[in-house]
Amino acid sequence: MNMSKTTISVKLKIIDLSSEKKEFLDNYFNEYAKATTFCQLRIRRLLRNTHWLGKKEKSSKKWIFESGICDLCGENKELVNEDRNSGEPAKICKRCYNGRYGNQMIRKLFVSTKKREVQENMDIRRVAKLNNTHYHRIPEEAFDMIKAADTAEKRRKKNVEYDKKRQMEFIEMFNDEKKRAARPKKPNERETRYVHISKLESPSKGYTLNGIKRKIDGMGKKIERAEKGLSRKKIFGYQGNRIKLDSNWVRFDLAESEITIPSLFKEMKLRITGPTNVHSKSGQIYFAEWFERINKQPNNYCYLIRKTSSNGKYEYYLQYTYEAEVEANKEYAGCLGVDIGCSKLAAAVYYDSKNKKAQKPIEIFTNPIKKIKMRREKLIKLLSRVKVRHRRRKLMQLSKTEPIIDYTCHKTARKIVEMANTAKAFISMENLETGIKQKQQARETKKQKFYRNMFLFRKLSKLIEYKALLKGIKIVYVKPDYTSQTCSSCGADKEKTERPSQAIFRCLNPTCRYYQRDINADFNAAVNIAKKALNNTEVVTTLL
Ligand SMILES: [Zn+2]
Ligand SMILES: [Zn+2]
Repeated sequence: MNMSKTTISVKLKIIDLSSEKKEFLDNYFNEYAKATTFCQLRIRRLLRNTHWLGKKEKSSKKWIFESGICDLCGENKELVNEDRNSGEPAKICKRCYNGRYGNQMIRKLFVSTKKREVQENMDIRRVAKLNNTHYHRIPEEAFDMIKAADTAEKRRKKNVEYDKKRQMEFIEMFNDEKKRAARPKKPNERETRYVHISKLESPSKGYTLNGIKRKIDGMGKKIERAEKGLSRKKIFGYQGNRIKLDSNWVRFDLAESEITIPSLFKEMKLRITGPTNVHSKSGQIYFAEWFERINKQPNNYCYLIRKTSSNGKYEYYLQYTYEAEVEANKEYAGCLGVDIGCSKLAAAVYYDSKNKKAQKPIEIFTNPIKKIKMRREKLIKLLSRVKVRHRRRKLMQLSKTEPIIDYTCHKTARKIVEMANTAKAFISMENLETGIKQKQQARETKKQKFYRNMFLFRKLSKLIEYKALLKGIKIVYVKPDYTSQTCSSCGADKEKTERPSQAIFRCLNPTCRYYQRDINADFNAAVNIAKKALNNTEVVTTLL
């Protein structure tokens, strides 16, 4: 056992907002966005007039600066930057540069105090009405955003370069016979597959000539799209959906599960629902412990988040991210594959790495909330319309479903984590999140499409993750491709397996021990997920 740090983020949803409170919140978000955009534009303009003087040495990749007299402090030092913001271009040293443009210092340009006045066209107070602390914080945040955006752009440029190189290889392969090498033909293959002669060692099974042609076209489109994005003028589309708050700004009333943020919203009380069921007694105890843990953090802050929900309306959250020190397991006897399904709530199967087979504990969790969930989704759809009959009654019905779903998810997550703990296994799950990045990379799989709008999957997997990390159990997210179509015993792919129904899986490989037997489909998928994690193939992320 050894101690290890892990970052845990917890979201509290703000619920039951009156339209008056909503307006108040939205107004603050908009002001915050205005101020941030203002700072970003000004900082960009300032930075455009500063130029790095050094040269990068090729061998060591270190920056080399010439020495000279700094125009600002007058000392003989390495001159790092030419500053053209104040009339005459001035060559300045590193300390002077940081004194002017370091992210700690940049706020001095925007916020005036009793001692120093700022230029009128830089004064952030004229732009937006905000809490005083936010005036000081926003310039720094805007600066960080610019840096992050620049790094992202650099990475995108690099990706384009890489793609161009790859496309060039495919073009060479297609046009020049000498540049391609044939892979040994497998019995069921009709066409020969090739790889580029520089890639002979790669495990790739190669491409057919038609495949190469398709690849060239596909990559061409991808490159074109990426270059278009890079050439577009950057707009600071900061939506202002995130406000940084000091944790001690937020006051909790655990008994009522309410919060107040006195410095922002005066006496406005906001009802919350939490990572645990805060309405129950045990939930409140848990929540109190958790709150104590947050207060011990050195950097004490949280985010107020505004999100657009699936029905097009805003949802509000309070998000805490904190580092917890947990006893991390280092030795695992195997892996607990968890498949979160639709017909069944979840299947958890232990796969032993020594015996190389699935064994106890195995548990399939039935889904008692399927009906509730469907009714709930129907209600949400109904309520998103403008005119609804008996709106209040329907809202009541909706609010009643929430605690039941909460309770079931918590119970299931707790059981799964307990299973992993007693079996000395780590947990692996499918990564079904469809971020923008992934959407660009590949088309969504059928399953991803199915889960995209399903809140239950996210809820359950996040709960398992949260509870497991607190116990020091590793979490591995794997790619969801073909987990439900591959045979977990012999590895036959979708052409040699069948799914006569949602719940049943059959292997058609005569040498397989599952041949023609009805296997529980969720069980099969869970084993595949565990195997992927154990073989370290198609792993997306590992936590802890
Ligand atoms: Zn200087
Ligand atoms: Zn099989």
